[in-house]
Formats: sequence, structure tokens, C-alpha cells
Amino acid sequence: MIKIHNLGFPRIGAQRELKFALERHWRGEDSLETLEHTARTLRQRHWLTQKAAGLDWIPVGDFACYDHVLSTLFLLGALPSRFAIDPAQATLADQFTLARGNASQPAMEMTKWFDTNYHYLAPEFDRHTTFAAQPRWLLEPLAEARALGLAAKPVLLGPLSLLWLGKSKDGVDRLSLLPALLSAYGELLSALSIHGVDWVQIDEPILGLDLPADWLAAYQPAYTQLAAQAPRLLLASYFASVLPQRDLLKRLPVAGVHLDVVRAPEQLAGFVADWPRERVLSLGVIDGRNIWRADLNALLTQLAPLAAQWGEQLWLAPSCSLLHVPVDLAQETELDAEVKTWLAFAVQKLNELKLLARGLNHGADSIANELAACRHAHNSRRTSPRVVNPAVRQRLADIRPGDDQRRSAYPQRARAQHDWLQLPLLPTTTIGSFPQTADIRAARAAWRAGKLDAASYDAAMRAEITLAVRKQEALGLDVLVHGEAERNDMVEYFGEQLDGFVFTRHGWVQSYGSRCVKPPVLFGDVSRPQPMTVAWSVFAQSLTERPMKGMLTGPVTILQWSFVRDDLARAEVCRQIALAIRDEVLDLENAGIRVIQIDEPAFREGLPLKRADWDAYLDWAGQSFRLSAAGVDDATQIHTHMCYSEFNDILPAIAALDADVITIETSRSDMELLDAFAEFAYPNEIGPGVYDIHSPRIPDSAEMVKLLNKALAVIPARRLWVNPDCGLKTRNWAETEAALTNMLTATRQLRAQL
Ligand code: GLN
Ligand code: ZN
Repeated sequence: MIKIHNLGFPRIGAQRELKFALERHWRGEDSLETLEHTARTLRQRHWLTQKAAGLDWIPVGDFACYDHVLSTLFLLGALPSRFAIDPAQATLADQFTLARGNASQPAMEMTKWFDTNYHYLAPEFDRHTTFAAQPRWLLEPLAEARALGLAAKPVLLGPLSLLWLGKSKDGVDRLSLLPALLSAYGELLSALSIHGVDWVQIDEPILGLDLPADWLAAYQPAYTQLAAQAPRLLLASYFASVLPQRDLLKRLPVAGVHLDVVRAPEQLAGFVADWPRERVLSLGVIDGRNIWRADLNALLTQLAPLAAQWGEQLWLAPSCSLLHVPVDLAQETELDAEVKTWLAFAVQKLNELKLLARGLNHGADSIANELAACRHAHNSRRTSPRVVNPAVRQRLADIRPGDDQRRSAYPQRARAQHDWLQLPLLPTTTIGSFPQTADIRAARAAWRAGKLDAASYDAAMRAEITLAVRKQEALGLDVLVHGEAERNDMVEYFGEQLDGFVFTRHGWVQSYGSRCVKPPVLFGDVSRPQPMTVAWSVFAQSLTERPMKGMLTGPVTILQWSFVRDDLARAEVCRQIALAIRDEVLDLENAGIRVIQIDEPAFREGLPLKRADWDAYLDWAGQSFRLSAAGVDDATQIHTHMCYSEFNDILPAIAALDADVITIETSRSDMELLDAFAEFAYPNEIGPGVYDIHSPRIPDSAEMVKLLNKALAVIPARRLWVNPDCGLKTRNWAETEAALTNMLTATRQLRAQL
């Protein structure tokens, strides 16, 4: 009899209960006790859902009010010293202080969790970091779970992953902290042992990365030490293949491993061949990163021989924690009925596991009806005319080698562009959005609810655009934007107008803390039935003599921030989006919009976890961007924008995008980023952000002059632009105008000196 388990469940709640409870508490409306009560209720509801799915082991300790890396730090007493919090006395309120900052200390830094869109709080280590296990954080939920009669399997982020994911604040070698950290883990594990815990899932997702040799070498002694004190350890990997680490894993004294065979199916054969039979082999066969219904028929066929050989040493699970998918498809009452049969959210995925276990343990006949329904759904998806669009396929097949190349090289284009644009040195612009005011959001909500007719909504948006244009003229900006008032979100706005996408009502996924995103579902071939932005841009241009920049989201970012079909290579899907955006670019150009920005903030985050896969990604991602941009005349100026990124290691690929102008986020790094661009001799124009839009703080012009001087030291003036770090939608108008006024003062001052 094989067993089934789960690695983690979404915390936010089917109705985003945790989000709203957190925000009420932060606004001071609810006490900490009320929030804790909501958290407990959610956690228990989620356990019972998992119990109903018949799981043999249910994860405990995966729930976190803010972030699971942050809770791990509290569990180990590894709190950043600058907050001076005593771990033994720490409360949930302290977690929020670290996550959100206070009057004297900025918040801990947030970083992307591997290649997901989830952000964790990066641990901070220094020479003085100490550890002190605080098992109560885990023993409490454990007691709650047991009170419900559950077979609880505590989940812990492993010591090496925890160190790796942290930042050294004073140059301390993180590995040097391992011995002290291990004793804290040891204490924790003994506490679990004493409380009769049978299995502990210990997550070491970094094993799938290209780790330096000293980090790999640390595993053996570390786990030898831990295993001595511990219940049985299930070492969990996910998001990438750990096949290169197979021999190491075999040597570790762990009682089982978990492999993500959705992301890296090639691991299966490699491990089945010689994984010791007395140990557990846990296979992540249900996709924890995407929302497609599993093919149970195929899985049964594939797994039946393994189940026969391995019996109860074979465990099945989702590929990774279900944190990355929405909670429950049953809530989607408005979703297209056919498409709905193709999908599975967390609750449905657990049900798939349950069926798999039943089919494997009691024969396929025991789930004959479910298998038939599954087969039917898969056939419908495979053959649906809505999924495959022959015209799109043909267009992709017809792409010619030169289609992603501009007509002339940058120097020639730059002359043509400068001739008509006639911009001053250090031209000024913004990244696209202006404040999304409460009025704008209210108008959109009313329109969507049918309370405001389309013409009135249109008029309201035009009024906002007019306001933004007038303000930019008054400020004296050189290249204007329309302000994106009409956009709810930079991906959703395009997805809603492209064929091949559907949208959920409740498909929320936690991004960080109380923030959630609702990724569009890209299910079919992508095409653009009609222009998406042209009317708005043309209207905005009609209001001013100055050049109006058209504003589009790029193909890689649309891909990266959607749930993407799994029946076509990502590269192909991306090229389809690229051609749709190309159509829009050409329509904008035809309509007289001759400066066009194609945003790619997610370009860097799409990089694969293993370096060996980087080139292939950069190749198709770069080609997709160029396909979207390259159809225009030499004189049409293409901008791109990227943020939250470190580009150093991919600068050749960024340069190969061949955008005429790139605007990037640099102010938070004090222009450090720019050095790499200079060193690499980045050939085209650059707008390094001169102030941080993420903070309400308004830097004075002297500060911006300083940053610009730094930039001028490495980039020639005629290739340098002046702009904020990113879009201004989250700021209010007062902040925006004050900061932009300073930006223009700084620019004028520098121009006078050049
Ligand atoms: N054009 C977008 C904006 O200004 C870019 C947003 C982003 O980079 N994330 O809002
Ligand atoms: Zn940005």
C-alpha cells in the first residue's frame, strides 16, 4: 500500500481570510488575539480538508501568518540583531515588526523564493548572530493538529537552505554559522522526538541549485549530527532536479527523500534504480506550481509497477508545497464550464492524490468513473478548437531569421530618432503609470459592476489621462506617458484583451505577507483580435505637442506572471505572445505613436535555477522581446523597462534585446548597478532610476544630482536618460509632483554644466 502526503497548503484562505485579518490587525481594528484566532481557524480548516483527502501524513508548521522563512527564524531564535528582540519572549507582533519595519528600523529585505512569484524575508546573519531553539512555535500547532486526531508531519526549512537564503550583513561566512545553527535544530528535533513525532519533513530546496563544493560538503556532517537526535527525516527537494546529488543523498542518514518529478521527471529513473529500498521514496507527481488537472490515467500506468515494487516505501505528493496555487476551484462559479474541467487548485489536487492512492492500492477499477471523467477532460482540452488556433501556429512557423532584428543598427537608428525627437541632453521621462487614485479604482469597480456605463467610464479615464498630461507638461518632462489609469494590472489588462486567456474570480496566490496576485490562465494559442492600447495612446498624444510614449507589457513578463499551459513549450507560448504584442506595436506606430515602451520587469526572474539552462532561456526570451519590437521603422524609438533585478550576469543578453532605451531600477543600489553596464560597455541609451518610488520619501534634487553625476561618470551624456525607478501608480499625486519637480531641477542643473 503506497502512502500519500502533502508538503504544504496555501495559508491565505479560500476567501483570502488571512489577508483581511492581517490588514485589519495592522490598521488597529483587530487585536492580536483576534488575528491569532483567525489564523488558528484557517489552519484547522486546511488540515481537515487535507484529512478529508485521506492523506497519510498532514503537514504541520507550514502555516505562517506572514512568511515561512520568517517563522523558521523565530523557531530557531535567529532574529536580525538590529531589532534587539529576545527570541524567548518573541510574539507574533514581533514577526510583523521584522516584516514591516518600525520607526527606527527598516523592514527585512524581501526576495523571490527560487523561481516562484512568492517573496520571502531574507534572513540576516552577522558575526554576532546567535541561535536558540524556540520549539513552542511548532509544538503549539502540533498539539492543535493532534487534538483533531491528525497524523501530523512537522515541516521545517532545513539548516543549509536557511543559511543559503540569508544575507551576510558584515561579510561573515554563512557556513561558519552552521555548527551553532545545528545545535538549535538538534534541540528542536529532540523536542519533536519527545513529543512522539514520527516523521519530520525537512526542506532543502537549495539542493536543486548549482551549489559550491563547500556547501555540498557540509551536508554529510550536518545531517549525520541531526539524524542522531531526530525522528525520521524526509528530506524534501523541489523546483529542480537533484539527480546530480543522488550519491550524496544516498549517503545522508535520512529516512526518505522527496523529488519533484513534475519539474524534473528524469530524476525518477535515476533514483528508482538505486535508492535504498528500506528508505522512503516520495514522488511529487501532482504539479504544485500550476493549475492543470493531472492526467490520472497516465500516472496510474506509470506508477503501478513502482507501487508493486516499493509498497509502503513509495509516497506520493504534490511536487512542492501547494502555496503556489489557489485554494479551491469549486468557488469559480463564473468560469467557462469547459475550461473549468481542465483545472485543479489545491483542494482538487489533493483529491487527485487520493484517487491515485485508491487506484494504486485497490486497482484502477475502484476509480473507474473518476478515470473516465479525467480522460474526458483531457481529451476535451487536447482537441478543443479554442486551444489550437491554426492561424497562430502558421504564423509561428513562418517566422524568419531576420524578423527579430531592427532594420538598422542602433547608431543609425539613434540618428533617425534624434532627428525628429529633438530632445535635450539628459531627456526626462517616467516609467508609465501615474497614481491610481481612489477615484480611478472606484470608477473601474462601478463600471465592472455595471453601475457605470462604458461611455462614462471612458470619459472618466480620459479625464485622468488629460490631468496626467497637463501635469507632465507643467513639470516640463520631455517624453510623456498617458499614465495607465485604465489598467487594473499590467498583465491582466493585456490578458483580458488577448485570445487564449481566461480569468478566475478567486484564483489568488500569496505573493508576500498579505499581498496576493491573481494570475491569468493562459490556456490556448494567443492572438490579438483587435488593438488594445491604441485609442488611449492616440487620445493622449492629441493633448500635447510633446512625444507620447506608448506603453505595453512585454511577452516574457506576460508569460512569467500567468499560469501557463503545460501542453506547449514555454518558448513557443512566449513567441505567440510576442507576435500579438508586435501587432500592437505596429498599430501604435501607424497611429503616430513613435516612442513605444515594452516593459519586461520579469525578464530576469524567468532565469532557470540551473546555470546550464540559462542560455536556452535567454535565447528564446530575448528573441521574443525582439520579435515584439523589431517590426518598426528606424525612427521609432523602442524603450524597455526592468526592475528588481540584478543584471550583472546577464548583461550580454540585455544588450542583445537591442532596445533603443532601457530604464532600470538603480537608486536603491546607489547606481551600483550602472557600473556593470559601463564595464560591459552597454551600447544603447540608459535611464537609471534616480529615485526610489517604493517609498513615500522624497529625495531632494541634490541627492539626485549626486546620483546622476555618478551615472555621468560611466555613461556618456548623450546616451543618458533621467527617470524614476519604476511606475508611480502606488504613490499619490503630491509625492509624485514633489519628487518629479526635484528630478527636473536636478536635470536642469546638470544640463547647465554639460
Ligand atoms: N509601466 C509600468 C508602470 O509604470 C511598469 C511597472 C513595472 O515595472 N512593474 O507601472
Ligand atoms: Zn518597474
